[in-house]
Amino acid sequence: MSNDPALNDAPAIARVARPQVSPHFPERLIDGYKAFLDERFPREQARFEQLAAEGQKPRIMVIGCCDSRVSPEVIFDAAPGELFVMRNVGNLVPPYSPDEGLHGVSAALEFAVQALKVEHIVVVGHARCGGIRAFADDGAEPLSPGDFIGKWVSLLSGAAARAGGRGQGEALPVYVERLALASVEQSLVNLRAFPCVRTLEERGKLGLHGAYFDIATGVLMRLDAATQRFVPAVAAMPQRIRMIRAVGVEP
Ligand SMILES: [Zn+2]
Repeated sequence: MSNDPALNDAPAIARVARPQVSPHFPERLIDGYKAFLDERFPREQARFEQLAAEGQKPRIMVIGCCDSRVSPEVIFDAAPGELFVMRNVGNLVPPYSPDEGLHGVSAALEFAVQALKVEHIVVVGHARCGGIRAFADDGAEPLSPGDFIGKWVSLLSGAAARAGGRGQGEALPVYVERLALASVEQSLVNLRAFPCVRTLEERGKLGLHGAYFDIATGVLMRLDAATQRFVPAVAAMPQRIRMIRAVGVEP
């Protein structure tokens, strides 16, 4: 028994579960790390050292989906320290809820806006989103007894209302794409409900943006401020890309 009262808490510490890990660390990650050490790290060492010394100062927060095909750093060709990225299933922003709940998205948002003082927040939706589809497909079964995805994507009910629901005879993939666009718009509405976001936006210090990425074509659409429509992010886009917009949205 120690005279230090803090050390007498040791038995409590001993009860903490030990992490048990697999002996098979993914080879893919080791190989990738080797490539990083051989190529990128030496090439950008000065940048990494500067980031370590000065801390991060990203100007842009990106809210994207967990989907492995839509990495914001890849799509936007971003270097370390440039983007503050928050990803979740369906790239959703929940409503402002200052209660006792554990709000991971809101915590990341609070840090980005209040501590990092990002100048832009970009919600990036994407085509063929499994999270959006999980909500849109009435026949989707829970993946586990906890049905965490089902509960999480229930946040899409507001977006579904914006989209006017699924049309009579509307094919599921078509509805999923419309709902994905509407969800970007709804997330922007939810973002603006956070007082810190709204205040900084009103002061002209923070801009909110919506975007939509199609994996198959590589096309990025952005929500146009003037027309409230999704338009190609850059002018030189293939002609076959249509102007798209979630229907059922009040002007
Ligand atoms: Zn997704």
